[in-house]
Amino acid sequence: MGEKMKNNSIKKEISAYDNAMKQLKIAADKLKLSEGIYEYLSHCARIYIVSLPVVMDDGEIDVFTGYRVQHNDVLGPCKGGIRYATTVNLDEVKALAFWMSIKTAVVGLPYGGAKGGVTVDPRKLSKKELERLTRRYTSAIIRMIGPHKDIPAPDMNTNKQIMAWFMDTYSMDVGETTLGVVTGKPVELGGSLGREEATGRGLLYVIEKMHEKKGFKLDENCTVAVQGFGNVGSTVAILLYEEHNCKIIAISDIKGGIYNPDGIDPIKLKEHEQKTGSVVNFPGTKSITNKELLQMECDLLIPAAKENQITEEIAKGIKAKMIVEGANGPTLTEADKILDKKGINVIPDILANAGGVTVSYFEWVQGLENYFWDLERVRSELKRILLIAFDRVYDLAEKEKVNMRTAAYMVAVSRLAKAIELRGIFP
Ligand code: GLU
Repeated sequence: MGEKMKNNSIKKEISAYDNAMKQLKIAADKLKLSEGIYEYLSHCARIYIVSLPVVMDDGEIDVFTGYRVQHNDVLGPCKGGIRYATTVNLDEVKALAFWMSIKTAVVGLPYGGAKGGVTVDPRKLSKKELERLTRRYTSAIIRMIGPHKDIPAPDMNTNKQIMAWFMDTYSMDVGETTLGVVTGKPVELGGSLGREEATGRGLLYVIEKMHEKKGFKLDENCTVAVQGFGNVGSTVAILLYEEHNCKIIAISDIKGGIYNPDGIDPIKLKEHEQKTGSVVNFPGTKSITNKELLQMECDLLIPAAKENQITEEIAKGIKAKMIVEGANGPTLTEADKILDKKGINVIPDILANAGGVTVSYFEWVQGLENYFWDLERVRSELKRILLIAFDRVYDLAEKEKVNMRTAAYMVAVSRLAKAIELRGIFP
């Protein structure tokens, strides 16, 4: 192939894992971490790639690719969600698994990090096809998971029904109902109250705390733009609207963005989205692009879609006062530098969206003990744990004069390094 052809055909994809490693390096340098521990943490412990043949409703066989990556289990069993999307690939799953190790360590949960995914558009599958795919995927990775080994959960495009099939398939294999093998289950089947809202509610708690720290007001004059209207984006938009009367001026989903400077009612928008399958064409709004949403004049920008969204170029045009990351890995390291220079406060993903895995932890504990908590207890323990982590990260950022992402990494990496040192390297 000629050089010209080659260049034309190579479209440089952003590697989420490379970005994650750059984030790790910044903290490792700051901590003067040994080269060996840095090497240890920059590798994933186990990587599984599985082919999943599924009989479709028309009788034909389709083969999907599934992944489960266990980054690290030094602090406890691996933990992390399962994503169903056409964009799922090994690089992404590795990055997401790594971020789970960091996230659980920031919050102080007794877990390591893992992530799974299947390359599929679940909206194109019937319910029966989705069930067969989920059961086949569970079966393909069954020897690697378990309530004390690796505990999956929902992530993008997966939900409590999928977790129920996952739990059932595992339970059939081991011959006993095993609630602790997966979290994010339906409440009727060992799920925890408050798990579905947990990531969004966790975002709300850290947003409230950050506003208090900075002396900003969280009220009807606070304008908010949210990228993504899935479980995380919709929950946090509704909570900010209901509890603080914030003005939600822009929201987007995979099909497009909408804008209304006078505010959008996210509860009515949710009804519209459930009826039509998208936020687009919501009455009274003007359509906007993804870039316009991210660079909108607003107080609070919440990227709650996916990784690699805030690039260097996007960061240059960002006008928000504060960014709170609902998604995992939305910001590139080069963009972080620009945001720092502009003085924009960023609450990083590994702290901001840790509410989901924190309530997963509660669900796991409840399932193992067969003793279930009320909603009030779930919410108050979530708030307590997240705010302890917030204070620790915030104070370290002030003390070390670093941004909150680096401070959060420093907290997590110190915990991991200490655990590695205490356990020693086998053999
Ligand atoms: N998928 C969620 C996350 O990225 C939750 C993971 C879990 O609960 O294990 O944090």
